[in-house]
Amino acid sequence: MNDTPQDIITAINRLRQERRAVILAHTYQPAEVQDIADYVGDSYGLSVQAAAIKDADLIVFCGVQFMAETAAILNPTRKVIMPDPSAGCPMADMITADKLRAFKAKHPGAPVVCYVNSTAEVKAESDICCTSANAVKIVKSLGDVPEILFVPDQFLGKFVENQLGRKLVLWEGFCPTHYTLGPETIARMKAEYPDAKVMVHPETRPDTQAAADYILSTGQMVDLVKDTNIKRFLVGTEEGIIHTLRKTAPHCEFIAISQFLRCPNMKKTTLPKILNALETGETVISVDPVIAAKAKKAIDAMLDISRRP
Ligand code: SF4
Repeated sequence: MNDTPQDIITAINRLRQERRAVILAHTYQPAEVQDIADYVGDSYGLSVQAAAIKDADLIVFCGVQFMAETAAILNPTRKVIMPDPSAGCPMADMITADKLRAFKAKHPGAPVVCYVNSTAEVKAESDICCTSANAVKIVKSLGDVPEILFVPDQFLGKFVENQLGRKLVLWEGFCPTHYTLGPETIARMKAEYPDAKVMVHPETRPDTQAAADYILSTGQMVDLVKDTNIKRFLVGTEEGIIHTLRKTAPHCEFIAISQFLRCPNMKKTTLPKILNALETGETVISVDPVIAAKAKKAIDAMLDISRRP
């Protein structure tokens, strides 16, 4: 019987060795999950990490379904399990492969850029993926084509439009968690902490982005605080990242800008569920090989562009 958190961690550590498992965790995961992970990162970092795993038999993915699917697609010879496979992403579910096919039919010949927050089926219907860290670079790489379809996050799409000064054809998806943050909250918190800098994620609304000092992916937030003279930040993305930021930059103060920036799906992972997944090996994430091969082309295209200077 594993009673205390330390008992559970000890059992996880024993099993991860026995099973030759690597534990990956997104920066939105609960603090105690991040603390036992072999690697903590954003979607792009986790994709790169998953693709590079060579000396493990099992990947325990602490995040949401689309991320585990991406790990499975990039690492087809390894078993990928999720501690709670019911952890989905409402934004990813705002578009399906059928809906994307109908969207493409209305815009023949237009390339499709697909945010990684999407199902494997949707990626398989897309030309190239992007993350919030590289979306601008990926869209720019397509050149001066008349139309580019961007799915499913309209707000990341609008951020790219603003950065590049060009229009995209946007799917009207959004993240319900980031949607809750409005400019009035930023104004109120700035009045309370006038010396703080505000950083928000490009999944927030355009009026929210306009009120912030920085619009950054989670990985870019971590990079910014590694070497900064700024003492205090108001953090406008899912609250899990505050743990990552505090570990990265203990000299800074990080304050959650809103109590509503908490993704319920990201919080489904717990230490007992990780232990259970390692014990049973039953919560396997698998992707149909035909879909996986097509989706991999879109992910590989992203990784290729992203690595270019
Ligand atoms: S924070 Fe938003 S985009 Fe990320 S998993 Fe949760 S619902 Fe999806």
